Amino acid sequence: MGNGKKSAWRPRTRAVRAGLDRSHHGETSEALYLNSGFVYDTAEQAEARFLGDDDGFIYSRYGNPTVAMFEERLAQLDGSEACFATTSGMSAVFAALLCQLQSGDHVVGSRALFGSCHYILTQLLPRYGIEVDLVDGADLEQWKSAIGGSTKCVFFETPSNPTLDLIDIQAVSHLAHAVGARVVVDNVFSTPILQRPVEFGADVVVYSGTKHMDGQGRILGGAVLGDRAFIDDVLMNFLRHTGPSMSAFNAWVLLKGLETMELRLAEQCANAQTLAQMLEDHGAVARVIYPGLDSFPQRDLVEKQMSAGGSVITFDLRGGKTEAFRFLNGLDIVDISNNLGDSKSLITHPATTTHRAVGPEERAKVGIGDSMVRLSVGLEDPADLEDDLRAALDGIV
Ligand SMILES: *Cc1c(COP(=O)(O)O)cnc(C)c1O
Repeated sequence: MGNGKKSAWRPRTRAVRAGLDRSHHGETSEALYLNSGFVYDTAEQAEARFLGDDDGFIYSRYGNPTVAMFEERLAQLDGSEACFATTSGMSAVFAALLCQLQSGDHVVGSRALFGSCHYILTQLLPRYGIEVDLVDGADLEQWKSAIGGSTKCVFFETPSNPTLDLIDIQAVSHLAHAVGARVVVDNVFSTPILQRPVEFGADVVVYSGTKHMDGQGRILGGAVLGDRAFIDDVLMNFLRHTGPSMSAFNAWVLLKGLETMELRLAEQCANAQTLAQMLEDHGAVARVIYPGLDSFPQRDLVEKQMSAGGSVITFDLRGGKTEAFRFLNGLDIVDISNNLGDSKSLITHPATTTHRAVGPEERAKVGIGDSMVRLSVGLEDPADLEDDLRAALDGIV
């Protein structure tokens, strides 16, 4: 699909042009094919398409021209061979795991996970006879002892949500591959701009298009990427027959989002760096976690696998839930929301929202306290954001 100049283009050119498949009208922007089905010239052509001898489209649950353009563009940005787009990040995570697992299999995951990922691993998979062990992702020894002969799959996020723990993709992939297990990385926080897991040995990468790819709060979307054999032989039939296919409209919004993602992310990372330093110097703040700070404990790993610190800062306030709520309520520009990766700065109190359902015990294990807040830095003027944060912080001391 699209053009095959994959190796020649640099990432910025790919973001704008990869996958572009113009119709005979010669439209500048990608066309929005808002149709569910397709027709055939002849019965023979229909037969050939179902046989796989003719690679045209069949039905939008299987594939759609606008969605295919998005899949090709994202694959080229990620460095993966192939991609299948889904309705949301969570349908991507669910499909990436379920398509390859069966009863009796063993999965090892990192403990610090997005709430819904945690639910899939700890609540859903065990229901189907799949055994799951969670480890502290930053501790290689724990991965080493948890990964064994029956391990089929390894799953983690790096940086994790919301504590921003990094996991050494290369080292964990090495351990997993030694027993023939596949490595699935949730790369939502970094996007393919800041980190490309396949370059460090990951087999499958999942994304939420909802976050930085759209980045402007409009649509939900997701994607699973991997090598051609995994996507075509393991994942595709699972997705085609269970049906969480991305809508053409959402793919079209995401195609436009990918064109500007690097530019937006560069500004968001720069803003986040400024704000993280300012927060570290404020008396109302007990601790700042941001991969771009010198105080970040896993600086070596940041250097190894990420190109910038990202758009999310997590910090602990002095005090507890009362102070955290007072701080959130005292903000004027930054919105209280559970989303992230948006052009609007958003703030979350994980313990009572995104990570409420994982329970107090698991929260304690991964270090999510009542004084912790997660700031997704947007595209506003950093001086205005700084004023806003400072005023709200001054209000709680
Ligand atoms: C948001 C998020 C998801 C889920 O994405 P949706 O598009 O909301 O379904 C998965 N993993 C991480 C790390 C996320 O932040």
